[in-house]
Amino acid sequence: MYKNLVLIIGSPNVGKSTLFNRLTRSHDAIVSNLEGTTINIKYGSVTWNKNKFQIADSGGISFLSKKNINKSINQHTFSIIKNCKLILLVLDIDMGFRYIDLSIIDKIKKNFNKKNILIVINKFDNNIKIDNLNNFYINQINHNDIFAVSAINGYGTGELLDRICTEINSDNHPNNYDDSKMPIFSLIGKPNVGKSSFLNTLMKYEYSVIDNDPGTTRDTIDITCNLFGYNFKLLDTAGIRKKSKVKKGNIEYYSNIRSINSISRSDVVILMIDSIMGITHQDIKIIKIAIENGKGILIASNKWDLIENENKNTANYIKSIRKHIMFYYYIPILCCSVTNKKNIIKIINIVHDIYMRKNKKIQTSDINKFLLPIITNNPPQSTNNKIVKIKYITQIHNKSVIFAIFGRNTNYIAKSYIKFLEKNIRNKYDFNGIPIKIITKDK
Ligand code: GDP
Ligand code: GDP
Repeated sequence: MYKNLVLIIGSPNVGKSTLFNRLTRSHDAIVSNLEGTTINIKYGSVTWNKNKFQIADSGGISFLSKKNINKSINQHTFSIIKNCKLILLVLDIDMGFRYIDLSIIDKIKKNFNKKNILIVINKFDNNIKIDNLNNFYINQINHNDIFAVSAINGYGTGELLDRICTEINSDNHPNNYDDSKMPIFSLIGKPNVGKSSFLNTLMKYEYSVIDNDPGTTRDTIDITCNLFGYNFKLLDTAGIRKKSKVKKGNIEYYSNIRSINSISRSDVVILMIDSIMGITHQDIKIIKIAIENGKGILIASNKWDLIENENKNTANYIKSIRKHIMFYYYIPILCCSVTNKKNIIKIINIVHDIYMRKNKKIQTSDINKFLLPIITNNPPQSTNNKIVKIKYITQIHNKSVIFAIFGRNTNYIAKSYIKFLEKNIRNKYDFNGIPIKIITKDK
């Protein structure tokens, strides 16, 4: 798999963000506030000698604090370090090599399977500092991995970029590419909600685009993304990028075979709506199709910038949307603005989390230990005179989340009781964004 994210780490003030800006030659970075942390990650893309890679500025050393590494390591933090191809540890030439720098290198090597790290000695603006530079050539560090640069005047950054590209390309040949197990996400929504704008924004930060059969009559284009530390395929439904082919304003757009085809191929659906318009009947139809097919789903309410200007409250807005989708109380709703780049990375983070939840398997012993006492305390009602008995429950191995209840006369268990069990399962195990199906079998 491609893992071509380069992650910049280092203490405050060593020049990480100056280096980031120099390498990306841009101040136009996407900033993400990682969930559950105060870590801001900035993403940009770099093109150097026809090589393209993504670069992320972690914003601080706390990223690798003891708490994060050793204790409850945050899923996203872990995922970013794990999935990045290379780490640049930036140091300040005037500060010298400090104990903390060595211990960080040590921690990364230990916790992340000998991840490659380049040591970037910054602020080497002129040769007057050459004596300071010698302090960094110590035995514990491979001297070939040390690069002296000046993020301010650009000295040494060409050599650094050459080396990064060598590292990026080392085992990245497209023939090695295995995308068969990649999560598939689809982006669905009415015309004009901002799907192509969203896609274009992602494209700026993304490394590889593989168009399947370009120029043929294929309905959807798979975009393979290595983005923000995640690998996934995004289905470009109805040729979002080929605007001319989409009949705007066509009310039948949703029943369009392409959208349904995309939903059926995907693991998680991103349903994009327009915050000004709110949720429509057509959107609810899409939700139903996704749920009936066992797909994960996230509602991304775009153009939030227009609402925010009117000082509207996010929680109230989400509440008003929820009123229309009461049955689907478990679907996450996220307000975003492609224009302001608000919550763009969060969409990918949440969709990825939904994907992970969709694939988790609850141990049979675990769920029975939890659910059987609840069933004993609240026995199932029967829809006729027959006595209903539940013996046990198990999660079935399937692409969607299905639990099977085994027992006697289980056909007669009331629907409301099945809903009751579903709610209990949801309360105990996080299935946010995932439909749960419960089937009954006599045994
Ligand atoms: P960060 O906290 O690691 O992201 O550091 P910044 O990029 O914000 O830089 C901290 C300070 O170091 C700023 O005042 C920068 O102008 C300065 N700085 C960054 N790179 C260089 C460099 O190559 N040479 C010199 N002399 N100063 C630099
Ligand atoms: P699509 O038909 O769903 O692909 O929608 P487009 O991406 O073509 O967007 C339709 C219009 O909405 C364009 O004029 C975009 O510039 C605009 N737009 C997209 N995202 C936003 C947003 O977050 N805020 C605002 N104010 N406008 C947006």
